[in-house]
Amino acid sequence: MRGNFWKTLAKVSLSLAALLLMCETASAGLTEKDVRNAWADVCKIAGITPLPLSIKEDESPNAWVTSGKSVTVTTALMKILTREEEIFGVLSHEAGHAVLKHYESRVNNAAGVGIAALLLGKALGDNTIGNAAAGVAAGLATAGFSREQEVEADDFAVDLAFKGGKDPTGLYTSLERLALFGGKTQPSGFNSHPPDERRLLHVKERILAVNPKIVIPEVEKSEAPRSGNADR
Ligand SMILES: [Zn+2]
Repeated sequence: MRGNFWKTLAKVSLSLAALLLMCETASAGLTEKDVRNAWADVCKIAGITPLPLSIKEDESPNAWVTSGKSVTVTTALMKILTREEEIFGVLSHEAGHAVLKHYESRVNNAAGVGIAALLLGKALGDNTIGNAAAGVAAGLATAGFSREQEVEADDFAVDLAFKGGKDPTGLYTSLERLALFGGKTQPSGFNSHPPDERRLLHVKERILAVNPKIVIPEVEKSEAPRSGNADR
């Protein structure tokens, strides 16, 4: 009988823990598990070796791929997203940068500018010009991707959702949420270029071009994540 008591106690504790976990999920956006599951899905559908993913405690909602070698998602981004399809969209966009080798072409371009500047400085007999321009070039390589590369990554994300049979509107509403609740735009990463009307319209058109029947959800201002504790 004693064994039964402990078994029942264990069951009750487990159910309680599960319940608490569910409450936490409902009130605080997406969980780390949601993010990791979505990343595993993205890598599987894209046919790429999963890059290491880390979650960063940060109050700016953002996600980025570092040197095409790892992916980071901030806790603030997890708070403003509500659907798993949204983090799937964001991570597909980041995978797009890696698959399309955006980082490499950015570095090559910047290196080209840097070398040209150094040669120009040498030709003019002025090392300061060369050095200053080389510094600018190095900055270019780390300042994030171009607008064209951002559009390519968005397209990659929409296409990947269709390929994997996922809801392609996730990328769209993640951008809407970022525009409404994201606060200040960051210098690099998913939050680098403001998710403006033009970018949203392009994503919408890309989705509707594949399936005109898809209804694109609009995010309301009233859906703003309430900040603070889980027990609100
Ligand atoms: Zn991007």
